[in-house]
Amino acid sequence: MERSEALLARAQRVIPGGVNSPVRAFRAVGGHPPFIARGEGSWIVDVDGRRFLDLVQSWGALLAGHAPPEVVAAAEGALRAGSSFGAPTEAEVRLAEALVARLPGLDKVRLCSSGTEATLHAVRLARGATGRDRLLKMDGCYHGAHDAVLVAAGSGVATFGLPGSPGVPEATASATTVVPFNDLDAVRAALEADPGAYAAILVEPVAGNMGCVPPAPGYLEGLRALATASGTLLIFDEVMTGFRVGPGGAQVRYGVRPDLTCLGKVVGGGFPLAAFGGRADLMDQLAPVGPVYQGGTLSGNPVAVAAGLATLALADDDAYAAIEAAGARIEAELADDVAAAGASMTRVGGMLTVFFRPTPPRDFAEARTCDTAAFARFHAGALAAGVYLPPSQFEACFLSCRLGADEVDAAVRGMRAGLQASKG
Ligand SMILES: *Cc1c(COP(=O)(O)O)cnc(C)c1O
Repeated sequence: MERSEALLARAQRVIPGGVNSPVRAFRAVGGHPPFIARGEGSWIVDVDGRRFLDLVQSWGALLAGHAPPEVVAAAEGALRAGSSFGAPTEAEVRLAEALVARLPGLDKVRLCSSGTEATLHAVRLARGATGRDRLLKMDGCYHGAHDAVLVAAGSGVATFGLPGSPGVPEATASATTVVPFNDLDAVRAALEADPGAYAAILVEPVAGNMGCVPPAPGYLEGLRALATASGTLLIFDEVMTGFRVGPGGAQVRYGVRPDLTCLGKVVGGGFPLAAFGGRADLMDQLAPVGPVYQGGTLSGNPVAVAAGLATLALADDDAYAAIEAAGARIEAELADDVAAAGASMTRVGGMLTVFFRPTPPRDFAEARTCDTAAFARFHAGALAAGVYLPPSQFEACFLSCRLGADEVDAAVRGMRAGLQASKG
């Protein structure tokens, strides 16, 4: 028996499903997940010694591949100086300054430890600042694993065909209205049906948790206008898109300024770090300045902050140009194979998805019409050919800025093999 398979059996005895986050279990694609021994740049090596080109990149948390020397050195330096103080440090100030400088939506920012926390705190702040309770979110957008947003949440939830989650109180779920992504009329109708009720519109500006679904032209601008007109706050959940679709996230790429922004994944350089921020008048509603409570023992953790700063230093225009070039090559070289498999492909910067339906979906209802059995064959075919893809139709592939020509070739070869296999 392979070591990965043996480890999964052992893990299943002590960890639910053998994994610490559901999609890792490969249930949607069959087979068993490789247990990872180490990462080397764009590659990962499993405990059986198999080497894969990694297009998951820790679900987008890594921008420059595994263990980039600059990030390792920064984290090691911080670690030697003490791993946590629960007291302010200079590096936190530098990271906050760097974030405020890059993102027009941020006047002030607060660090926390996960994307889930970032959206949880942003939603509470929006409710506290507006004195309103209702939340509007989009079908298939994922905002982490907390109650208010675990309604029609795409991604892991969709992968297992769950409508939401047991354990979310009816009262909490019913304070969240869900409308289709890319549908401004539905947003307008919801806001008009309940004037003065909505604290916030929460959206992934590029949906990434139903696979990569770009905003239709004018969609984000329309959300901005509807939010402003109704006194509702616009929250961009840029946990995935921030520093992924460009140096200033989706808000710079599309030129739309949200009231609050959530960050995670890349911002921590592969460590547990996230952030939420926005207009100064809103952020100053947070304790200790204002009445809205938010806090965390490990918030602004020095090792994670050092890794985040080192990662942001790597995330310059050249890095995004490299991602764009690699992505464009993968798209161009696979275009015929994608069409021949009856599939379609979307890409925004370093996010990319092959959808097993002839045209790219515009919303989650369309994404759900994908042939998930064909996706499973695609995934298995690519894995056998040495490319590690996210094990669900409803997740995006992530490109690092350190994909060399050989690695792009490997990605194309593996995905081509997967597309061939998808035909069954
Ligand atoms: C990953 C993700 C989250 C949750 O972040 P965690 O760090 O997993 O808690 C929230 N929103 C979006 C858009 C994400 O992609």
